[in-house]
Amino acid sequence: MEQIITGKTKLYGIIGYPIAHSLSPCMQNSAFAAAGVDAVYVPFPVHPDSLQEAVTGLQALGIQGFNVTIPHKTAIIPFLHRLDVSAEDAGAVNTVKSIDGLLIGYNTDGDGLLRSLAQDCCFEPKGSNVLMYGAGGAARGAAAALCRASVNSIAIVNRTEQTALELVSFLAPRYPQTEFYIINTPEKLDSVLPGVDLLLNTTSLGMKQEKLPWVVLDKLASSAIVYDMVYSPPRTPLLQDAEKLSLCCANGLGMLACQGELAFERWTGISPLSGCMRQTLERVCRA
Ligand code: NAP
Repeated sequence: MEQIITGKTKLYGIIGYPIAHSLSPCMQNSAFAAAGVDAVYVPFPVHPDSLQEAVTGLQALGIQGFNVTIPHKTAIIPFLHRLDVSAEDAGAVNTVKSIDGLLIGYNTDGDGLLRSLAQDCCFEPKGSNVLMYGAGGAARGAAAALCRASVNSIAIVNRTEQTALELVSFLAPRYPQTEFYIINTPEKLDSVLPGVDLLLNTTSLGMKQEKLPWVVLDKLASSAIVYDMVYSPPRTPLLQDAEKLSLCCANGLGMLACQGELAFERWTGISPLSGCMRQTLERVCRA
């Protein structure tokens, strides 16, 4: 159906640099249309030098809410009025909502991951043991959301051990009920693999067909879940190996859709049509 933009149409968007590759405009605009919300979602390329002016300008233009992507996820924090615990935990903001002239920062990536894990793999985080590859921005948001959902332990493998140690130093005091381990040898990894409920890749390894170091999937229990945040290509070597062993596995496309759904819910107070964002993403990725 043709969209008619009027003076009443609400404005949403995404800022990043570059932004042309973003799948969020397709996903959010299709969800607004399907839900019958009179709104438009626009990609805004914002150079890092212009971030503050852009945020002030968007607010002056009456934007209702916007997403934030690379390279602004952390840099935007000083220009917001308040942070939700999800953004504080993640040290990064991916969603902003304007409420009574105040800009509130959220991070829906971690909870998007949890929702995708529940939908795609029936994963129940409470009491589970997680093996996480990576300790970067995506890892921090994911680990914090897993802690909020009461996982029992998170074992971290990262190329740069210091970054993993910093992640643990940040999260361990906030979430004392979760145990953290740094895995820095193949032997240590071998010893934890049989007890792992969820193997999560938060690194960019796999985008160019790289394998994760050390991991031998046949040491996992047959009930273990393998989740790769990478979604392009859709079947990374990790997921291909998991499929060969008939392990339940999924790529990060579901997380991308779910973090978008959670942002939509924050902004509008309603749920988008079930499956709408996911189907749009699948269509766009196939094209
Ligand atoms: P980031 O902050 O730059 O962190 C990158 C992580 O990958 C670090 O742990 C880094 O280890 C590791 N890494 C990178 N290259 C490596 C290599 N050659 N060998 C071993 N480790 C390597 O990036 P990010 O924001 O966390 O994003 C990570 C990935 O998650 C990206 O592929 C991104 O597209 C994906 N992601 C997906 C979603 C989704 O919705 N599906 C959402 C967010 C992110 P070091 O600490 O040693 O550098």
